[in-house]
Amino acid sequence: MVRELTHFIGGKHTPGTSGALADVYDPNTGEVQARVPLANRAETEAAIADAAEAQREWGEWNPQRRARVLLRFLQLVDGERDSLARLLSAEHGKTVPDAHGDLQRGLEVVEFAAGIPHLLKGEFTDNAGTGIDVHSLRRPIGVVAGITPFNFPAMIPLWKAAPAIACGNAFILKPSERDPSVPLRLAELFLEAGLPPGILNVVNGGKEAVDTLLEDPRVEALGFVGSTPIAAHIYATAAAHGKRAQCFGGAKNHMIVMPDADLDQAVDALIGAGYGSAGERCMAISVAVPVGEATADALVARLKDRIGALRIGRSDDAEADFGPLVSRDAVDRVRSYVDLGVEEGAELVVDGRDFTLPGSEGGFFAGASLFDRVTADMRIYQEEIFGPVLCVVRAADYEEALRLPTEHPYGNGVALFTRDGDTARDFTRRVDTGMVGVNVPIPVPVAYHTFGGWKRSGFGDLNQHGPDSIRFYTRTKTVTSRWPSGTKEGASFTLPTMR
Ligand code: NAD
Repeated sequence: MVRELTHFIGGKHTPGTSGALADVYDPNTGEVQARVPLANRAETEAAIADAAEAQREWGEWNPQRRARVLLRFLQLVDGERDSLARLLSAEHGKTVPDAHGDLQRGLEVVEFAAGIPHLLKGEFTDNAGTGIDVHSLRRPIGVVAGITPFNFPAMIPLWKAAPAIACGNAFILKPSERDPSVPLRLAELFLEAGLPPGILNVVNGGKEAVDTLLEDPRVEALGFVGSTPIAAHIYATAAAHGKRAQCFGGAKNHMIVMPDADLDQAVDALIGAGYGSAGERCMAISVAVPVGEATADALVARLKDRIGALRIGRSDDAEADFGPLVSRDAVDRVRSYVDLGVEEGAELVVDGRDFTLPGSEGGFFAGASLFDRVTADMRIYQEEIFGPVLCVVRAADYEEALRLPTEHPYGNGVALFTRDGDTARDFTRRVDTGMVGVNVPIPVPVAYHTFGGWKRSGFGDLNQHGPDSIRFYTRTKTVTSRWPSGTKEGASFTLPTMR
């Protein structure tokens, strides 16, 4: 049976009225399992109006009371982790254990945001001038919106919603139309946890809903995560409409393997970070850079063996290393990139193009592919493939290896595998990338630090979660005050200076 999904506005499931619908697939079978309404301008505006009304009171709740809602939400989610992970896996195609990770990394940001009474404490200077005190406070900005990608349907909505609402804003989530059921369920759980209706509205949709959020003056700030062309468009359009924006885009994450690295550790790391979640992670490693021919030969030989032993299966197969991709389009895109790599002259060591899973022939499966002798001028190196394809670029020495991620247009994550502290220190200081791992292949920072890429991977000056998220979702007011007993000087016609 095909489920009919809704929006979630004002604390209620709201059926779509635009008539436009998108299919939500079961990537294991290729069948349609649900239809999601795509909001038009009027429906999106109604959600904004509802949020604006609700925010006025929410913004006046004391921060401790707001934090209690987050703490109750954490308890409620804890009670249904498994069903949420299964729902997520069934629409996205990542394995159930990986879906648990998606949820967990989102919840960690809710835990961080539950510290909002402490995080919102302002600054105070006693006696900045004679009888004058100065304090700064952080005020909510009003209605804010988040537009999120398909590949982390729990984590990224929570990364945005939790700090936004903890700061006293109303948040409108426009999740990916490809896997919207988990975001809808999370919104229900927030309501059950005591969040007032309208503080978290979920508007499903595509371009029209996003354009409305970008243009409506009641939306003060937008956070986006998705592909780079859309991130750049949203950043520019939000700025043109006078809005604050932070937009995170695509990636091409390199892993440098030095000759002194523990090769077993490096191969384990590459297999997991390259092919986990079928490569559909913005922090997936898609380029391996062994330094020196001997390192490269050994690495490629071991990778080839390990790829042969990978188990690709349904997302609910407890033994599967990775499941299907999210859509038929994604499978076609991955295959055409493998074709392109062959045309460009890279050496295809493992060819995953013809993979099918017996019994799931209609599913969106792609086998793991491995290219060796990829060079920096090839499109398979320059562009994000976003699938289970790993490219090996051989570097003659450390300086050449360092130059690759530093000069690449994307700058999300990078990893270095070495035993040498000097090399690691030099690398972490010089590489032109937002997040760096030393013997850690996927260096997604913990919730109380911040997450964000550089160059074409991130637009805007504040990162996600951690202290930056509190800055992004509030604006600072600074008050300079003096009481009558300190006002003794009469009129002053020069710029005040503190004496
Ligand atoms: P996408 O850009 O297709 O979609 C992201 C969001 O934008 C969705 O909500 C979608 O509905 C909306 N959207 C799509 N086209 C639009 C348009 N023309 N106008 C307005 N809105 C539009 O991305 P995706 O395929 O869902 O996600 C995969 C991409 O996200 C990859 O490039 C991946 O690297 C990136 N990603 C980046 C990060 C990061 O933190 N840098 C994290 C996760 C994913």
